Amino acid sequence: MTTLFEPQAPTLVPIVGHKEMFPVRRVYCVGRNYAAHAREMGKDPDKEPPFFFLKPADSVVPGGGDIHYPPGTKNYQHEIELVVAIAKGGRRIPVADALSHVFGYGVGLDMTRRDVQFAARDLGRPWDFGKSFDEAAPLGPLYPAASHGHPSKGAISLLVNGETKQHGDLADLIWSVPETISFLSDYYMLQPGDLIYTGTPAGVGPVVAGDRLTGRIEGFADLDVTIVPAL
Ligand code: MN
Repeated sequence: MTTLFEPQAPTLVPIVGHKEMFPVRRVYCVGRNYAAHAREMGKDPDKEPPFFFLKPADSVVPGGGDIHYPPGTKNYQHEIELVVAIAKGGRRIPVADALSHVFGYGVGLDMTRRDVQFAARDLGRPWDFGKSFDEAAPLGPLYPAASHGHPSKGAISLLVNGETKQHGDLADLIWSVPETISFLSDYYMLQPGDLIYTGTPAGVGPVVAGDRLTGRIEGFADLDVTIVPAL
């Protein structure tokens, strides 16, 4: 069997302490999972069911570094997030079993064309153009749960040019990691290689070319990203 052209290679994320890489299958993202961020988006933070959107697997930028200011926006924003990496698939996963499906965790950025997202939101249209685009999901190396545990609390913050813009604590997630996995698995067959971006704390804001972003979660190495001019 031959193919018309070379199929795209999978996105591979480094793993701390391992030679093997983590191949990305799908990228699920939780919307509004910290109360203070829900409020800054103009929404009620009461515990309604979580909602999700997806990003393409090839929008993940392993290790961060330089990412380009994307086309089609005048309000390009940062969202720092804890990312869950799934190594064991399943459907209808009970909350009590959910962590057994987790390989590990990383520090990620859900980069967003906020003006495009809000225009879509306000018209009842899909969020894809606001959330799903090239280089929209920088991700630091994964920390295996087997060696580093399952973080359920700890500071999460985002600095722009050294100044703290976002700050929160993993303990403030409205939907915990096990609850999020369980909910998602009622709608999708989760598979090894899936990533879940778990939502961002308050303080999101715009960035421009030249800005240096530092994503920081207690217990993880910083994720460093620099915004470079549009292609
Ligand atoms: Mn987000």
